[in-house]
Amino acid sequence: MTSTTLFYIIIAIILIDFIIDKVLEGLNAKHFNDPVPKELQDVYNTEEYEKSQAYKKTNYNFGILTSTFSVVLTLAFLLLDGFEYIDTMARSYSENPILIALIFFGIIMIGSDLLTTPFSYYQTFVIEEKFGFNKTTKTTFVLDKLKGILMMAVLGGSILALIIWFYNVTGSYFWLYAWGLVTAFTIFLNMFYARLIVPLFNKQSPLENGSLRDKISAYAETVGFTLDKIFVIDGSKRSTKANAYFSGFGSEKRVTLYDTLVKDLDDEEIVAVLAHEVGHYKKKHIIFNLITSILLTGLTLFILSIFITNPLLSQALGVEIPSFHVGLIAFGLLYSPISEITGLVMNWFSRKFEYQADDYAKNTYEAEPLISSLKKLSKNSLSNLTPHKAYVFMHYSHPTLLERIKNLKS
Ligand SMILES: [Zn+2]
Repeated sequence: MTSTTLFYIIIAIILIDFIIDKVLEGLNAKHFNDPVPKELQDVYNTEEYEKSQAYKKTNYNFGILTSTFSVVLTLAFLLLDGFEYIDTMARSYSENPILIALIFFGIIMIGSDLLTTPFSYYQTFVIEEKFGFNKTTKTTFVLDKLKGILMMAVLGGSILALIIWFYNVTGSYFWLYAWGLVTAFTIFLNMFYARLIVPLFNKQSPLENGSLRDKISAYAETVGFTLDKIFVIDGSKRSTKANAYFSGFGSEKRVTLYDTLVKDLDDEEIVAVLAHEVGHYKKKHIIFNLITSILLTGLTLFILSIFITNPLLSQALGVEIPSFHVGLIAFGLLYSPISEITGLVMNWFSRKFEYQADDYAKNTYEAEPLISSLKKLSKNSLSNLTPHKAYVFMHYSHPTLLERIKNLKS
């Protein structure tokens, strides 16, 4: 194999991935105007349904624009030896391999952020605004960006620096140390996400005492589940869209409700949503996902360790001096078909788990309020009621609304 062949394999992977994505999105878009299934007739009224049709089309067109821009940019960057240019630039500041890698990734991150920010600005302040979702102020938008970059620099930078250090010290065994590090970090973040990361972006406060809290406690008691940490987060600071999630485990486990969810749903519906979340916990989905992601990381790092010493990786990207950081980029591009497949498998599991959590809510609480909450949430996010099967198979982490309702009614 020559570096030129490898270069063309990388280009082919990027193009094929793009084409598959566009075909699936196109298929999905063809069904935007399908008749609404009878079980879902009461989700929207005519006016709201037309609005949801317009929202789907707008997002579809915008998606084509952004993904085309990004693929053209990536290809141009590869064809014009952009990585060699940035690598040379990074090497002019330092001779230390760790610092070179940090500067190299720093330039790429900041560059791509500058290029993609106009698109996310448009998405938030034009599209989401037009359809009445946006609550983000310009200040919040800028602060979010800055905090995101800072967090990436601190967390991503220190993990990268340590991995390269492991590589320089232990050679091909680095993957074991890197795996240990990433595992410890993943568990730590899972555990303390709500305590450490969320407060950087949102205000959260314990759910007030009152009828909702009483109903939640009463339900939790019937299934023998300690649910004393229930928090409400100010999701309305950014968007009217609603959400609820579970995080942490052991003594750190807690449920977080968006204030928008509390506003949109009645008490019974909220308890039903929580029963679904408790179902995920009781059916061990959370621990399954955590362990699977740790195992997949180990596998990826192991495969990386086999190829990273090969200078062909760097040369395929047109970079003269082989290095870990350039090899990492080439590896990432070559590995993407495999991660597409693992993503597909994980989505399949995730959809299966959603049914199990729905069943849990149905059996330990009631199906009806869960059905009505799902309908409300779909309506309030103008979601697509008629997605294409192939698109669902590839991209959906949840079954469609229709499938969930059919399951809940069965
Ligand atoms: Zn779920």
